[in-house]
Amino acid sequence: MATYLDHAATTPLRPEAAAAMLPWLTERFGNPSGSHAVARAARAAIDDARDVVAATLGVDPGGVIFTGGGTEADNLAITGVLAARQPPGTATTTGAAGGVVVCSAIEHHAVLHAAEAAARASGGATECRIVAVHPDGTIDLDRLAEALDPTVTVVSIMLANNEVGTIQPFASIAPLVRRRAPNAVLHTDAVQAFPWLDVREAAKRADLISVSAHKFGGPQGTGVLAVGTDVALAPIIHGGGQERDRRSGTHNVAGIVGMAAAMQATAAERDATVVRVRRLRDRLADELLRITPGSTETGDRAAKIAGNCHLCFDGIESEALLVLLDDAGVYASAGSACASGAMDPSHVLVAMGIDRRRALGSLRLSLGHTTTDDDVELALKVVPDAVARLRESAAAN
Ligand code: PLP
Repeated sequence: MATYLDHAATTPLRPEAAAAMLPWLTERFGNPSGSHAVARAARAAIDDARDVVAATLGVDPGGVIFTGGGTEADNLAITGVLAARQPPGTATTTGAAGGVVVCSAIEHHAVLHAAEAAARASGGATECRIVAVHPDGTIDLDRLAEALDPTVTVVSIMLANNEVGTIQPFASIAPLVRRRAPNAVLHTDAVQAFPWLDVREAAKRADLISVSAHKFGGPQGTGVLAVGTDVALAPIIHGGGQERDRRSGTHNVAGIVGMAAAMQATAAERDATVVRVRRLRDRLADELLRITPGSTETGDRAAKIAGNCHLCFDGIESEALLVLLDDAGVYASAGSACASGAMDPSHVLVAMGIDRRRALGSLRLSLGHTTTDDDVELALKVVPDAVARLRESAAAN
């Protein structure tokens, strides 16, 4: 028996996506940029996929830019907006010779590192303002208000966090940004939100929205940046001028077609999946907290996406826990990374003010549309045992 509880990292391919992709991996092919019949057929497949993606996100088909995943979409949002706002002749390789980026402290590194790279490349002319979050992981709106002014170029605040699952109050964030930073482009990273939330409302409130296919049963290496009609965006990949010159490169036809199929299936089943998975997640979290001494839940469960169960266990290190879980067939993740030989807690947990020792014992169990009662049962058997064994061996040393 084994259980995959790492859906925030990636999800299994949905059968609908596999079926849609198969012809484009076998007998059908064609470069959508060409003009003959084979090329036109590929073009038609991309156009159909674009319509599906646009309808599912509630955006204009002309604003859909197909990318090589969520990371590229986020980079294009930050760097592309900064570059488009530079005076002619001043843009650098990362797009910026000035400007102000505002983002939350718990953004994915695809946003944070893109903003930091732009600041570095500009020799300090581009400023990054990182906004604090509350202990529950929601952005501090007072701090956000302080960071906003008419000089701000781009604001990037994710819809749901990848580690702790917190959903941001976008309906409050967007009007605040419009009021206080009237010249800013507003981006939201909806990569983790899409499987669990109807993102159309947020897409309407934002100028740019990123999603990634492999987080909702689509293939890896395919994503979307959807752009509002009046947003100026400079490309970060140059070449043949595909995607209205906003993202060059021959289209990944199979990937795009698979993403559209996965998107449609996810959106159609979303309400039912959320109800079913939330019940499984609640049972998993409640039982783990009940039977494992020295365990705490991260953030406020009421403000989380349905698939996220994030806990901290006192007196253990997540890396060791993950090894034991892996051996026992429970595949999960933690919010810490080994940097230069020492364990560092994740920037998300640090930003939430979680004590360093506690943060080093974190565990993310992320459920998905394929998760069943059996998965939860196995995790409930394995996790408390593994935690107890680690504590015993720490006490014996
Ligand atoms: N943004 C968030 C919130 C994510 O969770 C991830 C992936 O983990 C990304 C962006 C990057 O997406 P991709 O893996 O498609 O590059």
